[in-house]
Amino acid sequence: MKAWLIVSLLTFVPTCRSQQATSSDILAITHVTIINLDGEPPKPEMTVLVRRGKISAVDKTGQKQIPEDARQFDGTGKFLMPGLWDMHVHILAPERDFPMFIANGVLGVRNMGGVPKDVFQWRADVASGRVLGPRMVACGPVVDGPRPAHPEHAISVSTPDDGRRAVQSLKQMGADFVKVYDGLSRDAYFAIVQESKRVGLPFAGHVSGSITQEEASNAGQRRIEHGIGILPSLDYEKNKPAPTGYFEEAMRTKNFSLIPEGIAKEGNGELDHFSEKRTEELYKTFVRNGTYLTPTRVVDRGLTFIDEISKQDDPRLRYVPASMREDWKPENGMLTRYRTPAYVAFRKRRYEMTTRQILIAHRLGVLFLAGTDVSAAYTYPGFSLHDELALFVDAGFTPVEALRTATVNPARFVGTTDSMGSIEVGKTAYLVILDANPMEDISNTKRISAVILGGRLLKRSDLDSLL
Ligand SMILES: [Zn+2]
Ligand SMILES: [Zn+2]
Repeated sequence: MKAWLIVSLLTFVPTCRSQQATSSDILAITHVTIINLDGEPPKPEMTVLVRRGKISAVDKTGQKQIPEDARQFDGTGKFLMPGLWDMHVHILAPERDFPMFIANGVLGVRNMGGVPKDVFQWRADVASGRVLGPRMVACGPVVDGPRPAHPEHAISVSTPDDGRRAVQSLKQMGADFVKVYDGLSRDAYFAIVQESKRVGLPFAGHVSGSITQEEASNAGQRRIEHGIGILPSLDYEKNKPAPTGYFEEAMRTKNFSLIPEGIAKEGNGELDHFSEKRTEELYKTFVRNGTYLTPTRVVDRGLTFIDEISKQDDPRLRYVPASMREDWKPENGMLTRYRTPAYVAFRKRRYEMTTRQILIAHRLGVLFLAGTDVSAAYTYPGFSLHDELALFVDAGFTPVEALRTATVNPARFVGTTDSMGSIEVGKTAYLVILDANPMEDISNTKRISAVILGGRLLKRSDLDSLL
C-alpha cells in the first residue's frame, strides 16, 4: 500500500466502529448560513447536525439542544453549501489528484475515460472508505471507432455487433455509464444506443461525425461533452465546398501544419455562416429531451490561449509533476505543436462564439454541468472546477446559476437520492464551509474554511496538509 494511503487511513478513518454513536460520530455546525441552490435565499443562523455521516437535523440555532457529546464547529460568519462535483475528469494518479479535489471542495467526480482495472478499483477504494477521495462515477474505457483516439482506455468498435459486445462488457465490468466517442460509425452508434437501453446503462459523451447532435439528443444521449459545435445555415451546408482532404495531404507530405490550417479554413466557413435560428432549434430539442451540456470551458480556454497561459507563472504548477509540465508545453502537445497563426485566430474566434452559444442555450433552458477535463494541459484537479464556475459567470450566468452546474444539476443527473446537491435531512454529509457568500461573488467558492466528506470534518489546516 502506498504511503499516502496509510497516512490517510491513520488520519481520517475513525477507529471506533461501534453501533453506538460516540462523540466522533456527531458533528454540529452552528450559527452557519445555509446556501441551497434550489431557489431559496440563504438561511442565516442555522445549526446542522451530522450523525454517522448523514445530515440528521437542520434547524435554527438554539431551537434544539445539541447532543452533549457532539463535536462543534462554530459557523459564525460562514456559509455552508453542498459539496461540488466535477462532472468531467480523467484521473491519472489518485495519490496526487484525490487530495487536490478534496482540498478544493470537489467531493464528487465523474470519470470520463480511464483504464478499467485502475478506475473501478479507485471507485471501490473510496466507497469503502479505504482511501480518502471524492465519490466517483465512472465509465471505464470509452467506446470508439476502429482507430481509437486513446487506445489505452478505449474499446474499439467497427460493427454493430462489436458495439453491442462493448456495452455488454462494460455492464459486466461495472461501468456506471457508456461513453461514446468520436470515431463511431452510424450503425455502431445506434447499436450501442439500443444495447445500452436494453442493459440499463445511460450513455453520454462525444457526438461522432457520423451523426448530428440532434440525432444524439433524440436517441437519448444524456449529455454532450466539450465544445458544442457550430451550426451553419442549411443553405451553407447544402452548398458547402468539398472537403479539401487536408489530413491525407498532411500525412503524405509530412507537413502536419496542414491539419490545423485545414481545420481553421473549414471552421471559419461555418462560423461565417453561423445560424442562430438552427442553433436555437437544436437547443429546444435538448430541452425537450433533457440533454445536458458539459462545455469543459477550462480546457478549451487552456488550448485556445496556450501561448498566453503557458507563459504564466501559475502557483498551481507546483502540484504538477515535471514530466507532466513538460508534456503540457505547446511544442509538445499533439494539438498545439503544429498550430499556425490562422489556427490560433480561428480558435479564439470559435471560443468567443461558444461563449455566445452557451448563453443562448442557457436562456432557452438547457441544463449545464460543470466539467474540467482534468488533467488535460493547464488544468488542475479541484482548482480548475472553480475556474469553470467563473467562466460560466463570465458567459453571463449568475453566480447561483453557475453553482447549480456543480451541485443541483449533477445530483439530478447522477440520479440517486444521495448524490449531494443539497443540504437536507437524510443526505450523506458532503459539504463545504466557506468564509464568504458564493451567491454574491463566485470567486468566494475558493475561500474554503472546511470540508465535510461523508461526515468527516476536514478543517483548513487538514486541507492544507493534503495539498
Ligand atoms: Zn471527452
Ligand atoms: Zn475528457
